[in-house]
Amino acid sequence: MNLWTGAKELLFPIKCPFCQKILDRPEDLVCPDCQNKLPWLAGKAAERKVDFADGCFSPLAYRDRVPEAVRRYKFARVKAYGRPFGLLAAQCVRDHLPQRPDVVTWVPLSRRRLRERGFDQAELMARAAGEALDLPAAPMLEKVRHTGAQSDLEDERERRANVRGAYTLLPGAEPAGKRLLLVDDVVTTGSTLGECARALLLGGADRIWCLTLAQARGTGEDRKN
Ligand SMILES: [Zn+2]
Repeated sequence: MNLWTGAKELLFPIKCPFCQKILDRPEDLVCPDCQNKLPWLAGKAAERKVDFADGCFSPLAYRDRVPEAVRRYKFARVKAYGRPFGLLAAQCVRDHLPQRPDVVTWVPLSRRRLRERGFDQAELMARAAGEALDLPAAPMLEKVRHTGAQSDLEDERERRANVRGAYTLLPGAEPAGKRLLLVDDVVTTGSTLGECARALLLGGADRIWCLTLAQARGTGEDRKN
């Protein structure tokens, strides 16, 4: 540890994103207590089906301490969580993906939402995951239509209709022939990820795997874009 890193850690100690306790070992992603108690998903439980994708993988269930942490990240704008969340998701890739992806990309926010929040939570996670996996991260999609909050829609069919046509390929994006890792913070019904995967497939992507920090059950979860 050099002097600057040491001073920075004294001034801005690194906290566990799930319980906000200061980490004794700043290189850890979560504290020992959360490491024991978080709702980790293993094996098939970490996998979810998403239309147009070859599976969706998540290290955590969206319950217990996880929803609060995700809300702090997105709505209290604790930007620093992007890195631990992305690195936790990256561990899941090593455990579950049958092949190595070529590029990491993400579900983008609308321009309006990006202005409000100041950062794109899925992009920060995708970039951290890319670094950990030694893969390039690149924007591929844009959200061309502002959609109402998916969490206001109970029904999976309504959610799918709500996002239909909301995402298109970014001009200049080249997904053709590539195996892509598509990152978002949380998967609920999978309709948003499915719609993004559809746009990437139309652009010629070879395979798409989705990756999120957490997996929520299909309906009624408190989740807003
Ligand atoms: Zn903790």
